[in-house]
Amino acid sequence: MRIAILVHEVAEDFDVVVAGGGIGGLTAAVHAARMGRSTLVLGGMAPGGLLLSIEQIDGVPGFPEGVPGYELCPMLQDQAADAGAEFRMDELTGIAPSGEGWRIATGDGDVHARAVILATGARLKALGVDGEERLRGRGVSHCASCDAPLMRDRVVGVVGGGDSALQEALTLAEAVGEVIVLHRGDALGAQAAYRDRALAHRKITVRYGTVVEEILGDETVTGLRVRGVSSDETEELEVGGVFVYVGLQPNTELLRDRLELDVDGRVPTDATMQTELPGVLAAGILRRGSLGQAAISAGEGAAAAKAADRYLSDGSWGKRTDGSWGERSGALAAGSAARTAGNGGSHG
Ligand SMILES: Cc1cc2nc3c(=O)[nH]c(=O)nc-3n(C[C@H](O)[C@H](O)[C@H](O)COP(=O)(O)OP(=O)(O)OC[C@H]3O[C@@H](n4cnc5c(N)ncnc54)[C@H](O)[C@@H]3O)c2cc1C
Repeated sequence: MRIAILVHEVAEDFDVVVAGGGIGGLTAAVHAARMGRSTLVLGGMAPGGLLLSIEQIDGVPGFPEGVPGYELCPMLQDQAADAGAEFRMDELTGIAPSGEGWRIATGDGDVHARAVILATGARLKALGVDGEERLRGRGVSHCASCDAPLMRDRVVGVVGGGDSALQEALTLAEAVGEVIVLHRGDALGAQAAYRDRALAHRKITVRYGTVVEEILGDETVTGLRVRGVSSDETEELEVGGVFVYVGLQPNTELLRDRLELDVDGRVPTDATMQTELPGVLAAGILRRGSLGQAAISAGEGAAAAKAADRYLSDGSWGKRTDGSWGERSGALAAGSAARTAGNGGSHG
């Protein structure tokens, strides 16, 4: 006689699952764990997010001289682990309603969360010109601290005019021979601290009203074809590398089927980081209205943890005074239950 044994896989249960190991997610984890909530961080392969490769992070409280990303990010991770958060080198691949909470799909199976903090951040946008994909990693880069040593004494291009572009141009200027900043507009959008230093730097020149049309080279980058916005004339510049900082693309594609995103793909929240879905919060630069700075992402992570704790204690959600989606949340959650699971400032 055969005996059939049915094994039901029970997903591990956490009070709070944090998706994202950048400063927003790690700060949320510190605070959630300190409030006694069982907390899992899906931190991806290298926690730290965008900050990990920044040579000198400016504007973080307690570090008046700035702090390298490779020092700050492990400190944040250690702080969250010491507070009791569990880490997995895994990613959120889907989210669906499940009982009194959410089933979180990961690369290594599902977990159950009573509350979820989305902190998946953003990635640097590509220029979208010929040669860019072909020469990525062979002279086309988003990381000055990683690739500057390979371009010692050479001329390099930096595309963009905001904080990230000038900050990275200053990092590059420490190692390379010359930096040409190529900016589409006629004035730099970066904060004064970076703008003044870059404009005064003997190795940095800024070309305004200039767009890159093609990245040139066979094996590695050898030049750029650029066009003057007002003259419409093109010319070729000889460079050994090009660093692209033309904005950020939020990492929210997986959430599109579950949450209403704004036109830029960012997650709308209220001032307490609550999304339209009960028990789901969002913090950091994936959030609509994010101002882009690390300290702000950290603060939003702490606020999200606080709101998650309150929700887990008394179930309060969407009790707004401003009339935002408080009353819609129930209907939206019910609607989203019917959908399928998870197929779904200035720095930039
Ligand atoms: C070049 C540059 C320089 C900067 N310099 C400064 C500075 O000096 N000072 C400052 O204040 N700010 C600076 N910033 C801004 C700063 O990087 C951001 O404010 C900060 O990184 C935002 O943190 P975050 O946690 O929201 O997102 P991120 O840093 O983007 O972290 C999100 C993390 O989530 C991960 N992730 C993505 N998808 C998933 C998923 N499905 N599941 C799990 N994890 C996922 C990502 O891989 C990433 O590790 C700089 C930005 C850039 C681009």
